[in-house]
Amino acid sequence: MSYLLISGTDISNQIYGEIRERIAKLKEKGIIPGLAVVMVGDDPASQVYVKSKERKCKELGIRSETIYISDNITEEQLLAKIKYLNSDPMIHGYLIQLPLPDHMDTDRIINAIDPKKDVDCFHPENVGRMLVGDHIFYPATPGGVRQMLLRSGIDTEGKHIVVVGRSNIVGKPMAALMIQKGMDATVTVVHSKSKDVSEFTRQADILVVAVGKPNFIKADMIKEGAVIIDVGTNRIEDPTSPKGTRLVGDVDFEDVKDKVSAISPVPGGVGPMTICTLMDNVVRAAELSIESGSK
Ligand code: NAP
Repeated sequence: MSYLLISGTDISNQIYGEIRERIAKLKEKGIIPGLAVVMVGDDPASQVYVKSKERKCKELGIRSETIYISDNITEEQLLAKIKYLNSDPMIHGYLIQLPLPDHMDTDRIINAIDPKKDVDCFHPENVGRMLVGDHIFYPATPGGVRQMLLRSGIDTEGKHIVVVGRSNIVGKPMAALMIQKGMDATVTVVHSKSKDVSEFTRQADILVVAVGKPNFIKADMIKEGAVIIDVGTNRIEDPTSPKGTRLVGDVDFEDVKDKVSAISPVPGGVGPMTICTLMDNVVRAAELSIESGSK
C-alpha cells in the first residue's frame, strides 16, 4: 500500500506564511509580539528546545527573551519573576520550561501565570476553556497534531481515534481536542494500566502515539489503512551516525509503513508542528493584547 507522508515541516511552513502576515499587521499597529522563556537549571534537553524556540522567533520577527535562572532559586523568587512577566507589556506570552527542579511545586508555578500570557496552554483556566470548546490557545503538541490532520485532508468525523498515552501535555489534551465539535471523532485513550493495548490500537482509524518508548508500535498492532501520528521523540544509540545517536519515534516506521494510509515521520513530523503552534499562540496573545487594550 502506498502511503501519504504527513510532513510537519511542510505543514508548519505553510502556517508560518500565515503567521508572518499576522505579525506584519501587528507591526503596522506598532506591536512586536514578544515571547519569554524561563529556563530554571541547565537540563540539556530543555536547552535544545529553548534554542530552537529562539531561532524560530528570530526568523519570524518575534521578540524573544530567554531568562536563565540557577536551579537553586527559591519558589518565592520564581513566583516574583512570574509576577513581573505578568505585568511586562513587551512580553505577550511566556512559558516556564519544564521539568522544574524537584524542590519546586510545578502546579503552584503554573497557576501563577496570567492565563492570557500562558502560551503553553498549561494553566488550569486554559485547560478548562479548551475542554469546553472556548479556547484562547491550543496546547502546543495536540494543537499541532490537530493542524496536521486538518491540513492533510484527513477526515476525523465519526472516525475512531485511539490515543496511546495520557500525559497532561499530550495524551489528555489530544483526546479533548478530538472529541470537540468540528473534529467529531470517537476517542479511546490507553495507558500503561490498560489491559490489552493492542486490542485497542488495532481498532484505530487514526492512531496517535505518545508513549516515549522507541519503536513501541509494530505492524501487528495496527489495522490496514490506519493513519498514524507519531508524537514520540526518543534518542537512541546509532554507531553509524556521526553523533552516535539518532531520533526515533514511538512507532516502528519501517515495520508499519506498508500497512498505513498515512503516517508522520520522526524527525520532521509532530516536532516542527509543536513549535509552530507555540509561535501561533504568541501571535494570538499579541493580537489579544490589542482587544484587551494593553500593548
Ligand atoms: P509521559 O508523560 O512519559 O507519558 C507517557 C504515557 O505513555 C503515559 O500516559 C503512560 O501511561 C503511557 N505508557 C507508558 N507505557 C505504556 C505502555 N506500555 N502501554 C500504553 N501506554 C503506556 O510522556 P509525554 O510527555 O506524553 O511524551 C510522550 C512522548 O512524546 C515522549 O517521547 C516525548 O519526548 C514525546 N513528545 C514529543 C513532543 C514533540 O513536540 N514532538 C512533545 C511532547 C512530547 P501512565 O500514565 O499509566 O504512566
